[in-house]
Amino acid sequence: MASPMSAGGFLAGLKAEGVKVVEVGEWEHHNRNHKGPWGPVHGVMIHHTVTKGSAQTVALCRDGRPDLPGPLCHGVITKDGHLHLVGYGRANHAGLGDDDVLRAVIAEKALPHDNEANTDGNRHFYGFECENLGDGEDPWPEAQLETIEKVCAAICRHHGWSARSVIGHLEWQPGKVDPRGFTMAWLRDRVRDRLK
Ligand SMILES: [Zn+2]
Repeated sequence: MASPMSAGGFLAGLKAEGVKVVEVGEWEHHNRNHKGPWGPVHGVMIHHTVTKGSAQTVALCRDGRPDLPGPLCHGVITKDGHLHLVGYGRANHAGLGDDDVLRAVIAEKALPHDNEANTDGNRHFYGFECENLGDGEDPWPEAQLETIEKVCAAICRHHGWSARSVIGHLEWQPGKVDPRGFTMAWLRDRVRDRLK
């Protein structure tokens, strides 16, 4: 059970971890809090965007689409390794997922297979979209992977969570495949090493 970090604390924690941050507009106040609760928070969720081009990817994640209003995450991690903060608070990234997975994240246990979509993930997860086509061929530059690792570590460090609090969208919601191009087990190992 953890209250979300303040926007200022979030920014400071990211910078302390060495993340190169770009603040986009009034990101601290751009959210979906009028549509539902934000918090308690239990983990960090990683996504890929299925887009190409950093500027348009950041704009899409901030503004959303006609059928899915933005923000679509808290931050966008572009291929050059920058984190673009686009929103803070409730964001449209996780959708409905599996309550058994949420319980495992809270307990920091191995994840069960996600086979239900019965729980509001936008309430409980920090969310980061990563610029990638998601076709399994588009490369993930080391600078981008390093920023993903640092962002996850900064949040886990603040809350006293282990790397088991970091999950992929594909581990949360049946039918999702993101992120594709590395495994979440591999990313969690990197985050675990960084947290040591
Ligand atoms: Zn996703």
